[in-house]
Amino acid sequence: MPRLVLFDIDGTVLTFRGPAPGPGRMALDRAMYELYGLDRATEHLRVAGGTDLALARTLLGRAGVAPDDAAIESLLDSYLEHLRAVLETRQYHPIGDVQGAVAKLRRHGVMVGLATGNVRRGAELKLASAGLSSTFHLDHGGFGSDKELRADIVRQAMVRCAMPQGASIVVVGDTEHDVRAGRAVGARVVGVATNERARAELLAAGADAIVDTCGDALLREVLA
Ligand SMILES: [Mg+2]
Repeated sequence: MPRLVLFDIDGTVLTFRGPAPGPGRMALDRAMYELYGLDRATEHLRVAGGTDLALARTLLGRAGVAPDDAAIESLLDSYLEHLRAVLETRQYHPIGDVQGAVAKLRRHGVMVGLATGNVRRGAELKLASAGLSSTFHLDHGGFGSDKELRADIVRQAMVRCAMPQGASIVVVGDTEHDVRAGRAVGARVVGVATNERARAELLAAGADAIVDTCGDALLREVLA
């Protein structure tokens, strides 16, 4: 049976070190400051598990700006410019041996794709920062620039990976949103939890399995 594994990006295959806010949130804050003069616009807003289109809509609404297509596009354009700049001095790091795990999955005949709330260019910048550009093929992914709902992003990824009906799908992610999106398409969901809070959230959401990093434990769960 054809098998596909779809990886989320933030908190799943890469993360940042050092003090919060991380590069992504910092770039969003800078974009909101540049465009609307708002300081720390993302404060108290959960970005983990979100999608860029939905986050942009929420931030614009908070700023009292009508979240039409033009406003969303200019916010995300500014965000990407700032993200590129922030990543010149800060970096993302892989969570475990992502490159090795993906290579082993491919050796087992598993197709590997992405299902992420990041817009495609944001995903590209983050993966490059973590040294994972050659590990994933962006053409085999669903992105926050495709759809606003995560389940629709997963569906888009399945289409791009040309999976036939009845294929076995595994979604790998770090939040309850990944679990729900995976459930919506009938996928098995493996959670990656780098701390106890994430583990509790994934458990409560009903993840099929939870691992610490993208390593051998993940391979066992995916190939099970
Ligand atoms: Mg995530």
